[in-house]
Amino acid sequence: MRMTKQRKMILDLLAKTEQPKSAEMILTELPDHTMNLSTVYRTLDTFFIQGLVSKSNMKNTAYYYINKKDHHHYMICLGCQKMYEIDCHLDHIADQVAKEHHFKITHHDMTVYGYCSDCQLSQL
Ligand SMILES: [Zn+2]
Ligand SMILES: [Zn+2]
Repeated sequence: MRMTKQRKMILDLLAKTEQPKSAEMILTELPDHTMNLSTVYRTLDTFFIQGLVSKSNMKNTAYYYINKKDHHHYMICLGCQKMYEIDCHLDHIADQVAKEHHFKITHHDMTVYGYCSDCQLSQL
């Protein structure tokens, strides 16, 4: 993958943000206003395939976050969209299955959905 100036800008932005961001959010925060939404989407898609970013889907919107070596996943409340970090324990499980099937893993993705305690109360 070629690391163009635009790609680097998006990656830098994701690297310094705590919360996962949608393509729209990324676009508004980019210092370069020459990029359009489809460029941002295409770039994020490339990053995802390369394993540089992970994504979680919420109400038809994908939220992207950077894949660190010591990475984590998210648990998202479907009511208020609050996000909680989850430590990843998937790697060694996936490695076992991959070995059985001679599968070469590039990266993985996981999101847990549900309702936080506040939203459970408001659903009663
Ligand atoms: Zn909630
Ligand atoms: Zn993981």
